[in-house]
Amino acid sequence: MGHIRSDETVASALRDSDAGMSDADNAVKHGVAIKTIRRWRREYQRRGRVRGQAHLLAKCPRCDGAHLDPEAYAELLGWYLGDGHISLGGRGVYSLHIFNDAKYVGLNTGLLELMRRVKPGCRPHTRNAPGVVITTVGWKHWPCLFPQHGPGRKHERQLRLEDWQREIIATHPGDFLRGLFHSDGCRSNNWATRVVRGVKKRYDYPRWQFVNHSADIRRWCSEALDRLGIPWRQSSWKCISVSTRAGVARLDELIGPKQ
Ligand SMILES: [Zn+2]
Repeated sequence: MGHIRSDETVASALRDSDAGMSDADNAVKHGVAIKTIRRWRREYQRRGRVRGQAHLLAKCPRCDGAHLDPEAYAELLGWYLGDGHISLGGRGVYSLHIFNDAKYVGLNTGLLELMRRVKPGCRPHTRNAPGVVITTVGWKHWPCLFPQHGPGRKHERQLRLEDWQREIIATHPGDFLRGLFHSDGCRSNNWATRVVRGVKKRYDYPRWQFVNHSADIRRWCSEALDRLGIPWRQSSWKCISVSTRAGVARLDELIGPKQ
């Protein structure tokens, strides 16, 4: 034991693991000990250590001038500001974690794709907590892309967008709103009564609401809505509501269903 496995063996085992193969089956298939499979998963999947030349595929848009997919970035920024968290692991590698309700299977699958678009060649993975799916991917450069990362909770400190971030979300406000509303928003039915010809009638109408404790994040949400001409109002100190028929229809179109 202890000799170096070929890159192909490691890559093949990680692919099988990503596809859901158990560590025991994976060990048998690749002729290695279960603990070896676990070590590979720990190093490459969770900590995001790069294998072989893979790091060449994920240069940093900020440090190395790599291309950044602006639509994917705007949306991932929305998710990060809503329900994301960055943690520092071993060897200076940060992990970006996005928390989302487990019932939104389509959105959780979409998050994997979104991360791959922002960090080409990456292998995000998911973990289940009660009622929640946590999608995670490691990269040394997450703080470059999300400089809002810092000590303490987001709503307890002042947040600022850098100019390049402002430019991206000003150009792609719909993508930014999709991330925000899917992480910290909901689409629900509200109802009201109105007297029509002396008869009290109840009518239902859908609305989108975005709830966040950070005044900065709420302001960026309302600015993106303004940019798209979608009427909104502050319905409580932490909640932004879109409830006009045209506004809800436009958001439905931009954001898509929660599924
Ligand atoms: Zn960087």
